[in-house]
Amino acid sequence: MNGIIKELDRYRGTSVHDELSAILEYYHSIEHDFDDFCSSFGIRCPGVCGRCCERFIPDITRLEALALAFTLVDVQKRDISFLHGWSTEHDCCPLYNMDTHRCTVYGARPVICRVFCSSASRTKEGLSFRGCRLSTEPEGMVKSLDAAALSRSTVRVPVMGDYGEAVDQMQASSSRRLLDEAVLDEASRLYLVKSILESDQEPPRAG
Ligand code: SF4
Ligand code: SF4
Repeated sequence: MNGIIKELDRYRGTSVHDELSAILEYYHSIEHDFDDFCSSFGIRCPGVCGRCCERFIPDITRLEALALAFTLVDVQKRDISFLHGWSTEHDCCPLYNMDTHRCTVYGARPVICRVFCSSASRTKEGLSFRGCRLSTEPEGMVKSLDAAALSRSTVRVPVMGDYGEAVDQMQASSSRRLLDEAVLDEASRLYLVKSILESDQEPPRAG
């Protein structure tokens, strides 16, 4: 966390700093929603799985991409050239580690990765939960919960669409792009702002 704050501080006084602060604070504020809900109903993934990341490249908003670009470039100091053209050749998320079966940007993962199989959906019959159908070990996993079961919840039931809407409202456009393309664009913006800051010019304020 200290590393993130130190790197974030380098952008102080720019729109990048304000936008990053907003999206990272939002992620922090919702972290417990899913943990509480899942532990309350015994919803959990097997220790080693990650199939959802192996068959999926998220469509994300600009702010979600900014958080990922910042994590990769400034916090993890990774070379992100592997992202160029990724989605034209792969079905797997570029930020998934096939060897460890883990997300490499877990703290900055986009909203869809947070809500997938960890939140309820609104249906005509009310709220419902549908468990993961991709698991490597489906035995013993919660398959579904109906409105009656969810109405007895002692913790807040997170609703999938609400989190995407909240992120949409944080930015002028809610359009989404594939993760690899969106992250490369936001990384270019980070490099530009950093080069301006290092040259002591007036940093850009507009988002
Ligand atoms: S159980 Fe489903 S949601 Fe969990 S890691 Fe596996 S595929 Fe992803
Ligand atoms: S960002 Fe992380 S959690 Fe989301 S699909 Fe990629 S590897 Fe999986």
